[in-house]
Parts: sequence; C-alpha cells; structure tokens
Amino acid sequence: MNDRPRVLLVHQRTTLPWIFDAAVRAGVDLVLVPRPDEQLGDDLPAGVTEVLAVDTGAPDALAVVAAEHARRPFDGVMTLYDAAVGFAAAVAHELGLPGPGPEVAERVRDKRVMRERLRAAGLNSPRFVALDGPQDWRRATGVACPVVVKPSDGLSSAGVTRVDDPATLEAVVAEVWRVSGAVVDRRSGSPGLVVEEFLDGPELAVESLAHDGDVRVLSIGYKGEPVGPHFEEGLYEAPARLPSEVRDAVEREVVAAHAALGLRDGPAHTELRLRGGTVPYVLELGARIGGSGVSHHVVEAVTGIDFAADALRIAIGRAPECFASPVTVRGAGGNYIVPCGGQGRIVALDGLDDVAAAPEVTHLVQMLFPGDVVRPYPEFTGYPAFVLSRHAGIDELERFHSGLGERISIRYRPEAATAGAGR
Ligand code: ADP
Repeated sequence: MNDRPRVLLVHQRTTLPWIFDAAVRAGVDLVLVPRPDEQLGDDLPAGVTEVLAVDTGAPDALAVVAAEHARRPFDGVMTLYDAAVGFAAAVAHELGLPGPGPEVAERVRDKRVMRERLRAAGLNSPRFVALDGPQDWRRATGVACPVVVKPSDGLSSAGVTRVDDPATLEAVVAEVWRVSGAVVDRRSGSPGLVVEEFLDGPELAVESLAHDGDVRVLSIGYKGEPVGPHFEEGLYEAPARLPSEVRDAVEREVVAAHAALGLRDGPAHTELRLRGGTVPYVLELGARIGGSGVSHHVVEAVTGIDFAADALRIAIGRAPECFASPVTVRGAGGNYIVPCGGQGRIVALDGLDDVAAAPEVTHLVQMLFPGDVVRPYPEFTGYPAFVLSRHAGIDELERFHSGLGERISIRYRPEAATAGAGR
C-alpha cells in the first residue's frame, strides 16, 4: 500500500509504452483494464500495479469498477482508446472523478452529434446528413458527390469510404454499416452514419491539452493528402509546414471545437483538412491522447513536453506542468504506419529489423505478424507496424519517411475470401 494516486487505465495495448512510462514519471499507479483482444503476460508494463478485468460493454461494468473503488479508491480514470472514451467518462461520473462527463463523451464519440455541435457553433463545416441506419440512405442524396460515408461511432477509418457516383450510394452505405459493425462494440448507444462532403486538401493532426477551459495547442502535424476511396492511415510528420496565418487559423478552429463540444479538461487529438490549402475544417476531435500514445511521442519530440504525464495529472485533478511555459518547437517527430500493401495471410514483414536499428527510430511497434490474415480496406484488420522516429528538423524527417516505402514490405499468401480475420 502506498499513497500514490491510482488511475484506472482502460483498454491500453501494452505494446504501446508511452502512457505506462509516463505514469512512472508522474508518480501514478495504474490499474489496467485489459483489452479484450490482448492476453497479458506475467510481466506487467511499467506503472501498472494491478489488473482489473472488466467487460466494459456488460450491464454490470460500472458496478464492477465501483466495487473496486469502494475497496480502494481511484483518483482518476483515463483511456487512449477512442471506443472506450464513453466508458471512461461514465466511470468518472459514477465515481465523482475528474473527466469530461458523459455528455461531452457522447458529443465526441458520435460523429452525428459532433457535426451538429461544430456547425451550430459556427465552425467551418462540410454539408452533411446524419443517418440513423443504412435504411435511411436516400436522405443523403441531397449532399452532392463526392461525399464520404462513415459510421457515427467508428475508429481507425474502418468503413470510411468516398463516393463519387450517386448511383453507388445505397450499396456503399450498406457496406460501411456492415464493415464498421465488426470493429466497434455496439452493445450500447445508438449508432448511425454520417454522409458528408469530401473535403480536399492536406490533412492535419493537432495535439492539445485543456485545463479548466484553457486550451493549449502543443503540436500540429501533417498527415498527407488522402483522396480515398478508402482512408488507410499512413504518415504523421510534425511540425507541419504551415504559413503562420494558417497555423493561427488551425489553432483558433481547434480551440473553438473544444468550446463547441464542452471539452474543458484533458488531452485531445483533432484531425482537420485544410480546404484549398488554407481553410481548416475539423474532421473529428478525440477526447484522448491520439494513436494510443503516438501523439505523446510526437509532442515530446517536437516540443520536449511530457504530454502523457501532464494528461495523467489532469486526470487526477492536478494542473499540467507544461502550462507554466510557452510551447516552443525544438525538433521533429513522426510516425510511419507500415501500409498493408496487399491482402491475404502474412508470410513475412521484410525490412523491419533493419529500420528498427536506424538511429532516428525510437520505437518500432509491430502489431501484425506472419500468420495473420489481412483483409483489404474498407475493412480494418489492424496496423502492421508503427515506425516512430525523432529528428533535428522536418527536412530530416521527410527524407527518412520517403525512403521507408522501399525498405519495408509485406509478403502475403492469397487466402480464400471466406477465411477468418486476424489471429
Ligand atoms: P475514424 O474515426 O474512423 O478515423 P474519420 O472521420 O477520422 O474516422 O475519417 C477517417 C479518415 O477519412 C480521415 O482521417 C480522412 O482522411 C478521411 N475523411 C473522413 N471524412 C472526410 C471528409 N469529409 N473529407 C475528406 N476526407 C475525409
């Protein structure tokens, strides 16, 4: 028994280390709710003192956490997994812990509600229609193509599909619905779909931290310029090369999105597109550290700020240390998500060991392995690997990323169309 603050950490993949290491730095003990798809070994990650197995979609999930809280109180609750943001908010509400509150969680988790709130607050918004289910597809014919069809409760771009030809809208809506149902737990909530105008232009990811309504943008990164029809995630390079007036406009839009959604405390990961290269449109704001912790790596590499430790401090009701000084750019940080580059059963991932040994690489996290079956987008099997790196500047980072496509490749054996997904 010690008097360190105790934080319930929900559904963190243990191979992504940043939040665990940050807990040690922040002096916080973590109680981990394991992901249903992960078997924990005997060695718990740094910072984790206990494991609490909870089926977060079960009717008694809150009661299980409340019983543990009665045994030994929690000081905070946190998740970096988007689908668990609602559960974490419900726990905080139930136990009287700091947190965004269930209403805010619903606004950030339901893309229909998010779009409505952002538009009502006067943010730049695409034309869009919210659907309660695939049967409503005709209501979306009023939004001129190209449009993007997405599940209201999706993640990892699963299902997200661009439609250029209105004649295919009905079929795409049905497909998006089918695919996304396999990725998210739909035992609670009332999922639907959003059909919205396709926004062209560079995509950006913004990492921010809010404390008591004061929102600080910590870094803005470039995420390529994906055109679809599916949106497999690829590179992340920060700091983005932006004229100062565009950077200011992005910051204003992100701060306004926090206010529109009522998010006053904690980290956020906001994705935007810069229409015409200059006008920021929010795609979505996640009330969490992005990329299961990748955003911590990026912020730390660019600014030196201990993003994850400060997010933990906010989760237990303390002030973030980084608010004491202005944010300055000191370097560059990136993530390269190895593209699936095919489908079938993985035979080998070539080049990973070589890249892992590069001096710029701080972490190489492999998530798919030989034997796994990869289905093509719009389905989402998983990310093959993350290559996280740190550089003196953005030139070096771009050069490093541009060579990775040739250095890493995945070999597949064809698989019958009916084969099961994953391992
Ligand atoms: P998810 O939560 O599943 O990641 P997003 O809304 O972030 O869903 O969409 C995933 C990706 O699809 C985005 O990162 C972006 O590349 C693309 N995308 C989504 N909506 C639009 C849009 N309206 N215009 C252009 N691209 C879009």
